[in-house]
Order: sequence, then structure tokens, then C-alpha cells
Amino acid sequence: MYISGQWREAISGKRFEVTNPATSEVIDTVADGGEADTLAAIHAADAAAAGWAGRTAFERSEILHKAYDLMVQRKEHLARTMTMEQGKPLRAARIEVQYAADFLRWFAEEAKRVSGQVLPAPRQDQRFLVLRQPVGVVGAITPWNYPVSMLTRKMGPALAAGCTVVLKPAEATPLCAIETYKVLIDAGVPPGVINLVTAADPQPVGRLLVEDPRVRKLTFTGSTAVGRRLAAGAGQHMKRISLELGGHAPFIVFKDADPVHAAKGAAAVKFLNAGQACISPNRMFVHQDAHAPFTDELVSRVIRLRAGNGLADGIGVGPLIDERALAKVDAQVKDALSKGAQLLCGGHRMMDNGLDAGTFYSPTVLSGVTTDMLIYREETFGPIAAVVTYDDDDDVIGMANDTNYGLAAYVYTNNTAQAMRAFEALKFGIVGINDINPTAAAAPFGGVKDSGLGREGGSQGIDEYLDVKLGGFAI
Ligand code: NAD
Repeated sequence: MYISGQWREAISGKRFEVTNPATSEVIDTVADGGEADTLAAIHAADAAAAGWAGRTAFERSEILHKAYDLMVQRKEHLARTMTMEQGKPLRAARIEVQYAADFLRWFAEEAKRVSGQVLPAPRQDQRFLVLRQPVGVVGAITPWNYPVSMLTRKMGPALAAGCTVVLKPAEATPLCAIETYKVLIDAGVPPGVINLVTAADPQPVGRLLVEDPRVRKLTFTGSTAVGRRLAAGAGQHMKRISLELGGHAPFIVFKDADPVHAAKGAAAVKFLNAGQACISPNRMFVHQDAHAPFTDELVSRVIRLRAGNGLADGIGVGPLIDERALAKVDAQVKDALSKGAQLLCGGHRMMDNGLDAGTFYSPTVLSGVTTDMLIYREETFGPIAAVVTYDDDDDVIGMANDTNYGLAAYVYTNNTAQAMRAFEALKFGIVGINDINPTAAAAPFGGVKDSGLGREGGSQGIDEYLDVKLGGFAI
């Protein structure tokens, strides 16, 4: 753990194991923090808050620019750590590290653009001034699926705004958090400004981040169930909160779309990170006229994906994070097949060629998916492409919106009017139009409905870490 500028063991002296999901080998152990460690971290962040907020935006920006450079220099090391700890193929891990670094650079720039306002006042002897000030200590809780970029997407804007941070990373991926902290520390972030509590049990740490009055803001990325609990606590303690939660993205292939082009996009985006992404397409709505060419192309690409240890060359799909994730995916596939879905490829745990040591599920395409199936309703978080056939373009937006989630949606069409109508009508925070990667540090990321509150990245991302203060001056 890193608290008050020191690398430390847990006060209890306990440590927990970190395993490689591709091999089930223990690759390291890390400090197992608890309440006392969290309190020490909150104390350190609180003590450092005024000093950090008092630095000029230019100084904070300079440190973040240095952190960007260092993260890019250490890309290979960070990517290897990520592949071993989280499982994604090395190539994808490198892309994530660059994406993570991009948030540091973007918010290094945004740090210098936090300006206030002078407003017209109703009285002649009155002046109004609006300041934007750092909220103070931020409690951050992050997931394992993007174990570096989810940190910088929160810490970049928090540090740029002048906030201090206590971070609790996911228990599956503490090593990526430790390496990210080393980058920030070596870039010159002062002691106390960023604090790291690793823990096998998230609950005591999470409870204190919610309840301690010195923490003024919570930022969370993870499941909707946990986010809902944290939001209830934040409400109780009147704390600001931003939440990036689950998704259930529709991927619509309209009648007029090029089905082969759409299938290429579907194959590329669905199997990224073995489907363990909140913006992963979970329901592919394909017009019946496009169904055969779409599924033929999709299956021909999916069967060529090689699963394996992400450190090896040519691997397209890594393992799922753990047995629980694998069981959930398998249950959704079995449920769909029992209710009449057709298995076009995959559909089983992979046990051959040494893959039985890890948690691998074969890249799968299901067709004939219907509304009564679990996969139609629940986020999968695995390498399953679920194809739903529809016959009327007028109905499909309603079908896509028929979910409590609202993070990402994808649309394939060659008709501009169709694209615009879909963009406006889809109740999701992010819509990719013939585009499978509608994300970047410069763009606002976030959802509506059960997918969360607030935005990360873009010019909006820093607002989550700033309070607005009005000054009324009688002169
Ligand atoms: P999770 O909610 O179980 O865990 C996320 C984090 O919350 C981890 O750090 C975990 O330790 C912590 N946590 C768990 N229980 C807690 C508690 N009671 N109190 C405090 N902290 C607690 O989710 P996960 O399985 O790690 O991540 C997958 C989920 O995250 C998916 O639903 C996915 O869609 C979502 N996700 C969303 C985004 C986004 O930007 N919207 C990005 C990545 C992942």
C-alpha cells in the first residue's frame, strides 16, 4: 500500500495472493488492507489537500505531463503486468496503457482551463464572482477489467482539479494499481496526495470511504449492484458521487447496412478483453435480410480467434477473470440453448492444449436469441455474441431500449437519416454509428439509467471533481 508518501505493509501484517487467470499460478502477494489502513490513508489525503489545492494549475499540469511521458516509457512493463494479472492479450494491454496515459495528458491540459465567471448582479453596488474549487479528498474504487485506464480516468482529473485521492483497486488487479502509482510518484506527485489501499475484502474500505466525512467525493467503476449500494451510502452522507456501472449494449444492423462490414466490427468489438467490457455489445439485433451474410462473416472470424495465454504471440482472446465469471457465461449459454437458440460456434469451456489450467471460454456465436433468455436481459461479460433477428426497422430501437442499462449502443446503417434518428432515439450515453470504438480521453464517457451517473474524460470529466462557489461582493 502507499500511504502518506510511504510504501507500507498492512497494519494487520496480512497479505493476499494475486493469480494469473491464464495459468492459475500465484504471481505475487500484496498487502491486505483494512479499516485502520484506510483511516491512515484518508488522514494522509486530508492533510495533503490544502497544499495540493494551493499549487498552481501549471505545477499540477507539469506533473501530469511527466506522468504521461513515464507511463508511455513504461508501456511494455505495465502491459506485461496487466496480461499476467488480468489475462488480456499483450497487444490489447499495450493499447490500454496508451489509453490510460492519454487521460493523464488530457487532464494535464484541462488543469489549466479551470476558470470561473464574473456574472451580472441585480444591484448596482453588487458584484458576483464564481469560483470552481477542488472538492477535496476523493475516494476511488476501480474494477479489474481495465486495471490501469480506469485509474487514470479518475486520478487524472482529480489531480488536475487539485483533489487528493484514496484509491482501492479491484482485488484481482492490485499489481497494475501499484505500477500506476509508481508512475505518478516518479512524476512528482507529492506525499499524501495519492494513497493506495489494496484489500482482499472491499467492504471495510468501501464503508469508510462512504462514511468518513473527510472524503467529499466517491468515484466508482464496477457493477450496478455495488454502485447502487455506494450511491445509497453517499446519499446518506451527502457526498458527491460518480458511477460508471454495467452495460447491456445493443448492436443494431439495419436492413440497409453492409452486413459484412458490420460483422467485421462485431467480431472486433465483441471479443475485446474476452467480452469483459462494460461497452461490449450484448445483444446483436440483425435485420432478417442481413442475417445470413452477417452471421457467416461473424462466425468465419470468430473461429479464427486464438485463445490462450496473452503473453504468447497471435492470441486474440485471453481467459475470463475467474471461475465465477466463467460459470455465469456458461449458465447464460446453456439457458439460451435450452430455450431454442442455435449454437453457431463455441459454447464450452476450453480444456485442451493446457487451457484447462486457466479460465478460458470458447468464443461463441448464438443465433435465434429471444426475449425470454437470460442473455437477452443480463450483462454477459464474456465472449458470447448473441444474435437476435428482427424484421421491422421501426421496432428495433424500442427493442434496443428495452433494458435498464444505458451505457453504449452501436448502429450500422448506410442511411444518414436512419443514423441520425437512431442516434437521437437510443437511450444510451454513448452511440457508435458505424464505429466500434466511440471512446477517447477527449470524449465524455458514461451512461444513463442503471449504467450510472456522471461522465469521465472529455471537458466534462474534471467537473466531477470541482465544486462551484459563488461570491457576492457589496462594494
Ligand atoms: P464489482 O462491482 O464487483 O467490483 C468493482 C470494484 O468494487 C472492485 O474494486 C471491488 O473490490 C469493489 N467492491 C465490490 N464490492 C464492494 C463493496 N461492497 N464496497 C465497496 N467496494 C466494493 O465489479 P467487477 O466485477 O469488478 O467489474 C465488472 C463490472 O464493472 C461490470 O458490471 C462492468 O460493466 C462494470 N464496468 C463499468 C465500466 C464503466 O465505465 N461503466 C468500466 C468497467 C467495468
